[in-house]
Amino acid sequence: MPHDQDVEGENDPESASTYECLECGTVVEANTHPGVCECGGEFQNRAKSLE
Ligand SMILES: [Zn+2]
Repeated sequence: MPHDQDVEGENDPESASTYECLECGTVVEANTHPGVCECGGEFQNRAKSLE
């Protein structure tokens, strides 16, 4: 995941979180939990588990 400040189209990048689908690996950036992926998988907030 890029970790610079080059964020486009984000109103408030500081409160945006990155969620990754546990099933298909789809990555979504959102301010709130995106819920369930279109594949039916569950999104996990990975902002707290950056390496
Ligand atoms: Zn998915």
